Amino acid sequence: SEQADPQPPAATAPALWAQLMGADAVGSWIDGVVHSGDGDEVPLIDPATEQQLFTYRDGGEEAVDAAVQSARIAQQRWWGMTASDRGRVLWRIGQLVREQLEPIARLEARTGGKILGDARAETTKVAEMFEYYAGWADKQHGETIPVPTSHLTYTLREPYGVVAQMTPWNAPVFTAGWQLAPALAAGNGVVLKPSELTPLTSIVLASLVEQAGAPRGLVAVIAGLGPTAGQRLVTHSGIGKVVFVGSPATGRRIAAAAGEALIPCVLELGGKSANIVFEDADLDRAVGGAAAAIFSGAGQSCVAGSRLLVQRSVHDQVVERLGELARSIQQGDPLAADTQVGPVQNRAQLERITELVDAAAGTAQVVAGGARLDREGFFFPPTLLSGVSNTDPIAQQEVFGPVVAAIPFDTEAEAIELANATEFGLAGAVWTGAVDRAHRVARRLRAGTIWVNSYKTINVMAPFGGFGHSGHGRSSGWDGLLEYSEPKAVWVETDDQAPLAFGY
Ligand code: NAD
Repeated sequence: SEQADPQPPAATAPALWAQLMGADAVGSWIDGVVHSGDGDEVPLIDPATEQQLFTYRDGGEEAVDAAVQSARIAQQRWWGMTASDRGRVLWRIGQLVREQLEPIARLEARTGGKILGDARAETTKVAEMFEYYAGWADKQHGETIPVPTSHLTYTLREPYGVVAQMTPWNAPVFTAGWQLAPALAAGNGVVLKPSELTPLTSIVLASLVEQAGAPRGLVAVIAGLGPTAGQRLVTHSGIGKVVFVGSPATGRRIAAAAGEALIPCVLELGGKSANIVFEDADLDRAVGGAAAAIFSGAGQSCVAGSRLLVQRSVHDQVVERLGELARSIQQGDPLAADTQVGPVQNRAQLERITELVDAAAGTAQVVAGGARLDREGFFFPPTLLSGVSNTDPIAQQEVFGPVVAAIPFDTEAEAIELANATEFGLAGAVWTGAVDRAHRVARRLRAGTIWVNSYKTINVMAPFGGFGHSGHGRSSGWDGLLEYSEPKAVWVETDDQAPLAFGY
């Protein structure tokens, strides 16, 4: 419990917010100041207790306009700095995140329902993201092209200007850092609209960007709703690119709106990832890995291993062991030291999970979990369903909760076919002792990330993104950085006697 924790007892969310921001009121972060909005009132609820922690007013269109304007001015100054100086600022942001790690993680845990260990790990990853991209800041350059004329032809890489970013509620500070760091490293300003349910840690992060020496206003964060603030942002004439992380339904709407405004768009959407266990796998590790794949974070992860494909000869054994493990998981207060799984983040999500599981339970067997816990807080237990067909809704729709469907298969070819029989393509895993099978299957799965004898490890150094309805474009690594700048070709005639082209 809390006493076992080496850190001082958890401060309340308002106390943590006041400590980090030097202000009590919650609102949008624009040009270095917290602005209270004037739209509808939005409550922030503690998912573990259902108590209201804060309220704020939707920033709406006015906040977006002001944010874009100040970010555009700041971006000119940012791009005017040397690349090495930009790198130094990014490195310093990483340091500030490390210095404030504990209060940020606690605020994330209280408002997001995330267990403290995960909140600390994700906040540490934010520091790593800024440190990693600090190194890239002065290593992005164009190239010379050996054209067949007498020109010196070279490319420059230039930022889009101000980028709009929309992020979801399942990993707020992680996702903010994930997109802010490469955007800034490439020379952009950012207007970020985090989920209206979890805006606080993104605002804290933006305040650290300025403390680290970035021009005031370079990163603005809108505390506001999707249909008002978000919608305005994705079609704003001052925005050069849209990066959206969230659900496929909203992603489709945003891509259409941005397309209409001719603003390019990166989409990081949902998944229905297959976790494939072959009979030649180390089953102890495969079962532990399957539990981590779906139950950690209460399953609220885009890469959650929500379809467990198990070879028939070991199917019953794996299902039984995973069921036991699911029932043994400690669920409770996200800030208690022995908690392994917290609540889901919000009531609407809890209701959606309940609906999908109730519908599936008509035909599937409920091996573990199955119904919300009879206690305060949005708690849904680790749930395992067997006797599921890959075409059932529970095997095709993203649940975004701690719910896994076990599906048997006979051959390797069938496993691959089932794994790919989904509109999504975000991630997948293969558990096997055969090195040839591991690589063969990894190559044939249609998804942006594949793990072999592992699950859910990610690092800012490797590209991440979706195939199919899981989105397009990439985040993280060099590929993620390239999304934030565009090449310009410059042609310089080096021969003043060269015939002047009249046309091409
Ligand atoms: P969501 O789509 O409801 O919301 C995401 C963001 O979009 C929020 O900030 C929301 O306010 C905003 N938004 C909503 N309507 C908008 C509009 N009309 N215009 C502009 N912005 C609008 O997603 P969610 O429920 O918050 O998050 C869960 C989803 O996110 C899941 O599908 C999950 O798989 C996905 N996700 C994907 C990744 C990835 O990297 N692929 C990572 C995390 C989460």
